[in-house]
Amino acid sequence: MELDSTWAQDWVRRSAQAMTQQRNELIDLDRAIGDGDHGENLDRGFAAAVAQLDAVAETDDAPHTVADVLRITAAALMRHVGGAAGPLLGTGLLRAAREAEAQNDVIDSHGIARILDAAAQGISARGRAVVGDKTMVDVWVPAAQAAHRAADEGGCPGQVLAAAAQAARSGAKDTEAMVAKRGRASFLGEDSRDHRDPGAQSSALMLLCAAQAAAAMHAAQDHEAPCAALTHEALSSLPDLGDLS
Ligand SMILES: [Mg+2]
Repeated sequence: MELDSTWAQDWVRRSAQAMTQQRNELIDLDRAIGDGDHGENLDRGFAAAVAQLDAVAETDDAPHTVADVLRITAAALMRHVGGAAGPLLGTGLLRAAREAEAQNDVIDSHGIARILDAAAQGISARGRAVVGDKTMVDVWVPAAQAAHRAADEGGCPGQVLAAAAQAARSGAKDTEAMVAKRGRASFLGEDSRDHRDPGAQSSALMLLCAAQAAAAMHAAQDHEAPCAALTHEALSSLPDLGDLS
């Protein structure tokens, strides 16, 4: 079974819902170590991405591939998300789109791991940030590594994404103990410790939504019932959206 543009669209739509739902929590996280606009920014950016997907749905520009969906989303985030997050996520998703295209849009378990890897590397390069700097890189890199491991172990795409979501969740939590070395929070130095990075949190939400979209896609296909069950099982150990504590 492969991930297709239906999955990608569902991922973006679920992410938009998650950002609306978690808007205030993200604002609070950013208020502690940044300028407090992260929740509003992400909510606006993903809403714009969904609006654009809706606008092109019945036209010649309708997305047919995962790469198409990721490009539309990247453009919306770059245009509508202020601060550093828009260019970072936009770059990550553009790299992911390029990798999806390189796979001729037949994205299997190893393929989705490579896509997450491409996103992680793009974000890291664009932000000149590495693991341990207390940024969204602390979510994307371990998520991609966990995805590769799950694919190597023979997991289906949903299981691979569930493993990525698990690692993303841990990665976001791990930023609490870190001192920020990149972005606005780095101006706070030692005072940035004991706060979770808002960009790491929103990226963890995105990756949870990617796994939930895959679980829904597997569940919709009768022959993928075993994979749907395994993905749900992997996701069930993750508390719901609101509680990434
Ligand atoms: Mg901000």
